[in-house]
Amino acid sequence: MAEGNGVLIVAEAAGSDLRPVSLELITAGRQLADALGGGVTAVIGGMAIEDAAQRLAAAGADKVLVADGDAFADVTAGVWTALVTQAIERTQPAAVLIPGTTAGRDYAPRVAARLGVGLAADCVELAVEDGAVVAVRPVLGGRVQTAVKLAGNTPQMATVRAGSFERATGSDGNGSVELIDVSLSDDDTRVKVLELVQEAAAGQSLEGADRIVSGGRGLKEPDQFKLVEDLAAALGAAVGASRAVVDAGWRPHSEQVGQTGQTVSPRLYVAVGISGAVQHLVGMQSSDYIVAINRDPDAPIFKIASFGIVGDLFEVVPAVIDEVKVARA
Ligand SMILES: Cc1cc2nc3c(=O)[nH]c(=O)nc-3n(C[C@H](O)[C@H](O)[C@H](O)COP(=O)(O)OP(=O)(O)OC[C@H]3O[C@@H](n4cnc5c(N)ncnc54)[C@H](O)[C@@H]3O)c2cc1C
Repeated sequence: MAEGNGVLIVAEAAGSDLRPVSLELITAGRQLADALGGGVTAVIGGMAIEDAAQRLAAAGADKVLVADGDAFADVTAGVWTALVTQAIERTQPAAVLIPGTTAGRDYAPRVAARLGVGLAADCVELAVEDGAVVAVRPVLGGRVQTAVKLAGNTPQMATVRAGSFERATGSDGNGSVELIDVSLSDDDTRVKVLELVQEAAAGQSLEGADRIVSGGRGLKEPDQFKLVEDLAAALGAAVGASRAVVDAGWRPHSEQVGQTGQTVSPRLYVAVGISGAVQHLVGMQSSDYIVAINRDPDAPIFKIASFGIVGDLFEVVPAVIDEVKVARA
């Protein structure tokens, strides 16, 4: 057990900025490091990411390891497996936390396999018991939560679901920033990103959004989804959708919230004409305030709503938009 060597968190950049989950992992990493001993080291790869690295140091990482260069411009599994494995070999941490992003879910098991250690995937809570990390992870579509104790070889590894921890907001940390060399074999670099095609999404991205308004099949027609867009615009919110309307082709998959879409954790989540199937709930139930608008008083969404409006959304939503506009004027 490498107790005392602290925790390594893997940060991901979005261009020259940080993905919000990177700051969430600083909070999670600090919590574990306080119990395991040692500090929090962050590792990040990318191009022109000095600002992102400084932000990690300012937000509370004791040390930031930076792999800068062309090879790290895109997150490919081979390169990031090498980067994270070598960062672990260098720092010998007691625990490693990796973002539960699409990329993280791809390279984390490869790193664990290369090192011959276990991995708890998609964790939403972390604790330490008798020197071992205990990770809570939802299973069976979120109906049940299991606690997994990571006994055995170190480091103890987990991927962490976005939105599960508060973002570290500190700005006066003075962690050190160090450039590292990563040796990459031909095997590590055999997958190349040829082109990135940006989906033509209007409005804010769901990732890290503070407010989200999502619409479901209750809107009946794709054109009626404009009501959701209007409410989102009035609230300064991002637009989300249930899988029913994504499958119907009304909205892009990037807007889907739930088990097979995005996991979000905004301060405010407004569900319009969404029944609240468990596969939707697992993607948004950790929101601070949930407002549901549905004409069926028995809709499951009301079981987790902080505020519920039972009524016809075609009457309720325009009235709410008017009230919001008056309140914000
Ligand atoms: C493996 C698997 C993965 C899945 N992943 C996801 C996922 O990631 N995200 C997801 O969302 N779903 C997912 N689903 C689908 C999920 O089970 C539901 O089918 C889906 O969430 C239903 O979408 P909905 O609430 O928009 O539609 P519905 O369940 O049809 O609900 C529509 C709601 O609108 C209300 N309504 C109708 N008219 C009005 C009106 N005029 N005014 C007010 N309310 C009205 C109705 O009362 C109803 O509650 C998944 C399913 C499976 C099997």
